[in-house]
Amino acid sequence: MSQPSATHLNETHDPSLTSWVARANDNEVGFPIQHLPFAIFREQGTSQAFRPGVAIGDQIIDLAALASLKPFDGQAAVALAACTGTSLNALMALGDAHWSALRLALSRALRKGAAMQAQLEPLLVAQTRAQYSMPAQVGDYTDFYISIHHATAGGKQMRPDAPLLPNYKWVPIGYHGRSSSLVVSGHDVLRPVGQLKPATPDGDPTFGPCQRLDYELEMGVFIGTGNPQGTRIPIEQADKHIFGLCLLNDWSARDIQYWEYQPLGPFLAKSFATTISPWIVTREALEPFRIPFSRPATDPQPLPYLMSESVKGGGFYDIHLTAQLSTDQSRKAQVAPTTLTDTNLDQAYWAISQLVTHHTVNGCNLQPGDLFGTGTMSGPAPEQAGTFNEISIGGKQALQLPWGEERKYLMDGDEITLQGECVKPGYPRLSFGQASGRILPAVI
Ligand code: MN
Repeated sequence: MSQPSATHLNETHDPSLTSWVARANDNEVGFPIQHLPFAIFREQGTSQAFRPGVAIGDQIIDLAALASLKPFDGQAAVALAACTGTSLNALMALGDAHWSALRLALSRALRKGAAMQAQLEPLLVAQTRAQYSMPAQVGDYTDFYISIHHATAGGKQMRPDAPLLPNYKWVPIGYHGRSSSLVVSGHDVLRPVGQLKPATPDGDPTFGPCQRLDYELEMGVFIGTGNPQGTRIPIEQADKHIFGLCLLNDWSARDIQYWEYQPLGPFLAKSFATTISPWIVTREALEPFRIPFSRPATDPQPLPYLMSESVKGGGFYDIHLTAQLSTDQSRKAQVAPTTLTDTNLDQAYWAISQLVTHHTVNGCNLQPGDLFGTGTMSGPAPEQAGTFNEISIGGKQALQLPWGEERKYLMDGDEITLQGECVKPGYPRLSFGQASGRILPAVI
């Protein structure tokens, strides 16, 4: 892996830093002092208010409680004072200088030997005791389509002769999703009901529970500061507007989708539920995992408004992603979940900063807490397929599960768990935690 040319590394990324929170220094746990992701949490089984927290080891530091101690100065103090509500929107709205100042102050306070240890210790809550809620109030949710492998695999099923539409290599494709049905990991997902695609081209649609329920392994991107309507975010500035990344499962009803999607795109096939992980990994924490943007020489290069030195040097991120499946039967037999997808965000055709710039090129205003989905992050290899639709080739070929069942799509009781991590030699492992959801039977 080559080093990014446009790095913004600072003392918080020093791989030799350790924390006085013992489990932070355990690579298996995946929440080292170099990480410091944000969530909204409270203690399980209580009626406490939900509040912001930062993960450190197997613990969460309660930022609302910390704010009442007023321990920091300057921009870090302003940023911490924004961490007392039930969402991260106020912090997101402050901008990257404030996010960075808070990260530095927390890093210094959590380091081994820090004078603040005695003050902070009582503010830790074990992650095993935490209940999470949505990390932000999402005004608008947009889903993109940035894996060319996913676009090609899906296109092949509908247009074997021309799987990839000619616009794909020029314009980042997206559609406006539904924010009201976003849920955080652990929320059950009801099988949707609707009009299902006719079995034959000249047949009538049927009405009933979705028979082709699917997952999509994606990442979520939380926007921090937005832009006034009528203005654009230039590509050189786009990174500054990205607060952080999470895991995202864009549940999809294929039989509803393929009946309704022409000519305006997905509608009820996607809007019933979208699951995200509770932890938002800040863009700053991901700096060590940036990798250069690349395109095959035979492909068109992005138009100038979508290219910059920063995109060229480090437009992509190296984030290992998996999707796992368990079923009623596997859990009853206490068999471990099986891995359906093993892929990486480096399979992207478009950089996340390009999505930000493209989204605003027409003057559309983004707002703090807006969410992007990257689109299914399939790679070219079979194990990198990020949906059942790709794995089963549109339902033509069943996947044999290790415990004897088979699947073409999701059955009731099935549970999908997305996980993500950043791993490289000489640097502590960063975990994205998980985004999990179990399918409940349709209500007719
Ligand atoms: Mn999607």
